[in-house]
Parts: sequence; C-alpha cells; structure tokens
Amino acid sequence: MCNNVKSISKTSQGELSLCKNCKHFHLEFNNIYFEFTVNEFKQFKQYILNLEPDFWECKYASAGITKKIPIPTLQDNLVLMFNRQEVNQLKTLVKQPVINVYDKLITVDDVDYTLILN
Ligand SMILES: [Zn+2]
Repeated sequence: MCNNVKSISKTSQGELSLCKNCKHFHLEFNNIYFEFTVNEFKQFKQYILNLEPDFWECKYASAGITKKIPIPTLQDNLVLMFNRQEVNQLKTLVKQPVINVYDKLITVDDVDYTLILN
C-alpha cells in the first residue's frame, strides 16, 4: 500500500496525488480511481487536455445518454463517460505542471527526466 502520498491538486469532485515511494499518480474522481506511472499520466493528461466537449456533445447529440464525453480505458469493453462539467474538473486536476511537481517532491535522479519534459 502507498503510504507516502502527497496531494497535488484537488477539486470538489476529485483529487490528484503522487506517491513518493512508487512514483505513481493516483487520481480519485467521484467513484473512479486511476493509478498511473509517470508516462501513463503524461498520456492521460494529454488526452484530457485535448478533449473537446463540443465535438462529443454534437456527435452524441441524439444519443439517449447524459454523459457524452468518452475516456477509454485499457480494458477494451470499458469506456468511462463524462459530462462537460466533469471534464472541466478533470482538466483542472491534471493541468498541474508535472515538472514542478517533480522538482518539489522527487529528486531528478529518481526518474527518467525525459519522460516528463513537455
Ligand atoms: Zn506507492
């Protein structure tokens, strides 16, 4: 179990934290819990920041679902769906400059530095 977890950012619906031991990111959001390596987090962050709610809301305009913005998972048959307000919160959570986080929490020698250059 991770017992050296530092909170990085927080919103009313979620919290992003980083474990200093295993260097994994933990993202809690409503009833969802993600765990990422540095590289996985970088990809997730990129995906979230590039999400365009307008595109998805238009694409699924006539679909009978209230949450229209998909976030795929590693499990092929599982896609997480979000609404615009939730996506905005996710963007706020992941937007933290990872490089500063590392300066603060982990010495540069601990990680492959190239992984977190943006
Ligand atoms: Zn850990």
